[in-house]
Amino acid sequence: MGRQGALWRPAAFDPVTRTWVPRESPGAVPVPELEGVLVGDESSLRWAADDFGHVVHRRPRAVLRAGGVADMTAIVAFAGATGLDVVARGAGHSVYGQAQAAGGIVIDMAGLDLVGDVCAERVTAQAGALWSEVVDATLACGCTPAVLTDYLSTSVGGTLAVGGVGGTSHRYGLQVDGVEELCVVTGAGRLVTCSPEQNRRLFDAVRAGLGQCGVIISATVKVVPAPARARRYRLYYHDLATFSQISGSS
Ligand SMILES: Cc1cc2nc3c(=O)[nH]c(=O)nc-3n(C[C@H](O)[C@H](O)[C@H](O)COP(=O)(O)OP(=O)(O)OC[C@H]3O[C@@H](n4cnc5c(N)ncnc54)[C@H](O)[C@@H]3O)c2cc1C
Repeated sequence: MGRQGALWRPAAFDPVTRTWVPRESPGAVPVPELEGVLVGDESSLRWAADDFGHVVHRRPRAVLRAGGVADMTAIVAFAGATGLDVVARGAGHSVYGQAQAAGGIVIDMAGLDLVGDVCAERVTAQAGALWSEVVDATLACGCTPAVLTDYLSTSVGGTLAVGGVGGTSHRYGLQVDGVEELCVVTGAGRLVTCSPEQNRRLFDAVRAGLGQCGVIISATVKVVPAPARARRYRLYYHDLATFSQISGSS
């Protein structure tokens, strides 16, 4: 999440003393108590400054390996107070630096990967869970999320932040259309539950909100019965004219 009007920007994170050393004020700002770890080592910073596209490289000052929900509220509030950019990173399958933060904090969501509460109508998963993990849990109950991206090694938070289109979108819409409830950490560092009935504006802003309107902590999504078998067709066209003619005439 970007923010404006920062009074000062910390110059460096010292992983040994776990403090931010401000550029314009003497002294240091202590990092809040965390269940996970805030790291600033070279390999973590390099990891956070890269993604699937390998095109954009923005180096953060630190990476939070999130250990629990409380870490999220603490670090977002801390980032707000210190004027740092903070961004959530799921599986890092962005192609143009969307989950990077120059000079800020990248939150590695991988630690928040619990999948629970599967029933015939819905499943609740933490945002760092991969869709493949969600599918494993739901298939055990004979169901599947109504819409899945074709590629399942993306995170729940990562695709809900962009919309999520898949092979059943012609029937059920985007993944965000099947979301019933979200737990979100707002820019003020508050944990808020939102749904069509509760905090509707936040719910609408966060779904496909490109990570700019809050960090998704968990999502409850609609499931449908999983077919016992599926047949997949792959149709090859050797030239565009034939493909356009056929798709245009259907
Ligand atoms: C091989 C491949 C196949 C793909 N197939 C499909 C497809 O079939 N359908 C489709 O719709 N898309 C597809 N995509 C695109 C993909 O869905 C998006 O790039 C998605 O954002 C990647 O999710 P991620 O977990 O890797 O997120 P990241 O790359 O880590 O983050 C993407 C964005 O989401 C934000 N974000 C991540 N976690 C959270 C969170 N918890 N709360 C708030 N914001 C968050 C980040 O800040 C960033 O802006 C594909 C991409 C690749 C590389």
